[in-house]
Amino acid sequence: MDTSKSQQLFSAAQQLFPGGVNSPVRAFRAVGGQPLFIDRGQGAYLYDVDGNRFVDYVLSWGPLILGHAHPAVVAAITETALRGTSFGAPSELEIKLGRLIQAFMPNLEMLRFVNSGTEATMTALRLARAYTGRSKIVKFEGCYHGHADMLLVKAGSGVATLGLPDSPGVPVASVADTLVVPFNDIAAVESLFSQNGHEIAAVIVEPVAGNMGVVPPEPGFLESLRRLTTECGALLIFDEVMTGFRVHPGGAQALYDIHPDLTTLGKVIGGGLPVGAYGGRKEIMQMVAPSGPMYQAGTLSGNPLTMAAGIATLEELRNPEIWNNIEHMTTCLGEGMRAAAINAGVKVIVHQVGTMFTTFFTDQPITNWSSAKLAYTQFYGEFFRAMLLEGIYLAPSQFEAGFLSSYHSEEVVEKTIEAAQNAFQRIPK
Ligand SMILES: *Cc1c(COP(=O)(O)O)cnc(C)c1O
Repeated sequence: MDTSKSQQLFSAAQQLFPGGVNSPVRAFRAVGGQPLFIDRGQGAYLYDVDGNRFVDYVLSWGPLILGHAHPAVVAAITETALRGTSFGAPSELEIKLGRLIQAFMPNLEMLRFVNSGTEATMTALRLARAYTGRSKIVKFEGCYHGHADMLLVKAGSGVATLGLPDSPGVPVASVADTLVVPFNDIAAVESLFSQNGHEIAAVIVEPVAGNMGVVPPEPGFLESLRRLTTECGALLIFDEVMTGFRVHPGGAQALYDIHPDLTTLGKVIGGGLPVGAYGGRKEIMQMVAPSGPMYQAGTLSGNPLTMAAGIATLEELRNPEIWNNIEHMTTCLGEGMRAAAINAGVKVIVHQVGTMFTTFFTDQPITNWSSAKLAYTQFYGEFFRAMLLEGIYLAPSQFEAGFLSSYHSEEVVEKTIEAAQNAFQRIPK
């Protein structure tokens, strides 16, 4: 595979950007090799600057549920741009996207748009603290909620693969009120609540973890979080930045029928443009300025281009057949990968929830961060590089989710499974 142009651009980028990238995992450090520079995307495919074509299972880390350059999304962005890109004043598009989100997720009685998932979670926690008058928050090992100081503890995703348990520069004081427990460990949460219950403002959780690779909640786990938080007067925050519209059109809250007090969103709702949102019970949301005293603002929040791309995306998803088919193809891919691994005598566990999946190189069950990190990342790197040569672009780290789009057809998925059959041959037995 010729990657000479990508290599040239990467050397130029390394002079400009730390590690040559504007977000760490893009640098391929966890899998070896050098990142590809992308020229364009179309449907299920990415094209790099050297003219190589790949089936894309990263999809901008989840947002592109309709694939690259979906005609409805492109048209919406184009038409909107002709009318101006930002006003710093309200526009009707915000109401349209807000209502669409609400139709899928009625727990968001009110919401506020921001510009990233990081902003959404950071603000949801500020709001939980403002509302409860308490300061402690609970998060789970291996769950990533963006890069706000107080959340950068045992944060999975890029932080995990870089081997930075906690980032330097995060003052001890900012994480002093962050309590961290293992995902899926109800007993640990119970004991935390029995000691600190009255001081806990909120529990924040990825209801299906996606940032340690896909790890589903065990039966009863989310139910227990709902019960314990209610009993202690703490808020339950579902961080559905990734899972929203991905594990179910209504998110994990619809899939498991749990009503969180607050929800954070991002990724899919922006149709590939920068976005975040937080929302939930009206009584809590009314604490947000200017209706209440908790301050939060954003120059470009709710900007028309993002709103238009989000509306076009969610409008398509209103047709349940589209979403169900993406889920079906994800199931086919998961089954195909398992079978291919067995054929090749390679031990893997494939986790899939809705339109998200991860292939872990291990034969031990994975239920939390300590079990996830035992997966054999060297084999994943080997597999990743072999798949790339086969024309398949997977997440460049073991601890990430893969995603499908409406363009991942039967043909595309079959091709991927064939590629996996070849790639698994390269894994040492
Ligand atoms: C991606 C992600 C975030 C952060 O969103 P950004 O837009 O990258 O700031 C937060 N929480 C979860 C669960 C995510 O997957």
